[in-house]
Amino acid sequence: MSGVPSKDYRRQYAALMPELLPLLERTLLEEDPVLGGPLERFERDFADYLGARHAVGVGTGTDALVLALRALGVGPGDEVVTAANTFIATVTAILTVSARPVLVDPDPATMNVDAEGVRGALTERTKAVIPVHLYGRAAPMAAIGAVCAEAGVTVVEDAAQAHGARTDVEGRAGACGALGCFSFHPSKNLGAFGDGGLIALDDDDLADELRARRDLGKVGKHAVRYVGANSKLDTLQAALLGLKLPHLDEWNERRRAIAARYREALAGIGDLKLPDDPGGGRHVFHLFVVRTPGRDALRAFLKERGVKASLHYPIPPHLQDLADADLGYAAGDFPVAEEFARTVLSLPVAPELTDEEIGRVCAEVRSFFGAPA
Ligand SMILES: *Cc1c(COP(=O)(O)O)cnc(C)c1O
Repeated sequence: MSGVPSKDYRRQYAALMPELLPLLERTLLEEDPVLGGPLERFERDFADYLGARHAVGVGTGTDALVLALRALGVGPGDEVVTAANTFIATVTAILTVSARPVLVDPDPATMNVDAEGVRGALTERTKAVIPVHLYGRAAPMAAIGAVCAEAGVTVVEDAAQAHGARTDVEGRAGACGALGCFSFHPSKNLGAFGDGGLIALDDDDLADELRARRDLGKVGKHAVRYVGANSKLDTLQAALLGLKLPHLDEWNERRRAIAARYREALAGIGDLKLPDDPGGGRHVFHLFVVRTPGRDALRAFLKERGVKASLHYPIPPHLQDLADADLGYAAGDFPVAEEFARTVLSLPVAPELTDEEIGRVCAEVRSFFGAPA
């Protein structure tokens, strides 16, 4: 029996190939390779999909966060609040603009930060809050938005794991805060064949500024207004993403169906904690992250049986040994995030996985815990 991968890009591309090859041919023969038609069309389509006025394509999700913070004027002496259990890139972006990351322990029930956590972290130096829709589950935007509005602090969403997720306010994840940052890294729910990123927003002036900032700060052919980045969403990636976007909702549905299957098959076995689905499309299961103190043994057991389960993330940002930055935190500062780091395990969830493969994962996990097949 062959194994169960955590995802399989080849299956996705094989299915898209009949449309993809002519699209690539058209793009190479007809279009401007930099900031051209395919990028403009994808930006329009993605903005419309989200319900945002503007979308600005950039080189990576990390750059999207960095440019968003820069455009807001966040810099030395400023604090930016975010989740203690996020992927390192959120923290890297804050450090890159020389601001201080102020971390918040997540709510154990949702694995996301909540409004109370955010409120407790605000100071007079707080310039922005970055809620992360971690694992694809929308953070509580209504409550976080209210806390931030009251404090006069800007909300920048890290929606890198939540393309298409609904939220508890109007607009999808990435279109509820002042700015929403996306990654199109191949592993994400909407992925390029390489790197890509995007900033969604409504503010016209800020959108102009971001378009300049991704292009060396240029506001005309030769005139430069900002110390910008050279970080544009690549034209071929934009064309590919435009081809994939109409499939995003059906792919997210498939992810939810796989999650529902796991929740049913794995409920109540051993000490395994499962993620819930808040419903209403608010979770797009970028990852299906379970928790158990026996994580390492379960992972090794699955590996022996050909099932690939991964770790997101085994070292929280505040415990990374950074050579060029000191976050000023120590072990014990974020007990919830630290417990997650020891106990999380991501079971395979990708639209292209078959029911048979998901069934095998369920059977192997049940067998590890000694539950009847
Ligand atoms: C992937 C990711 C990023 C960074 O995106 P890149 O395109 O890899 O730079 C940022 N935040 C979160 C939560 C992510 O998952």
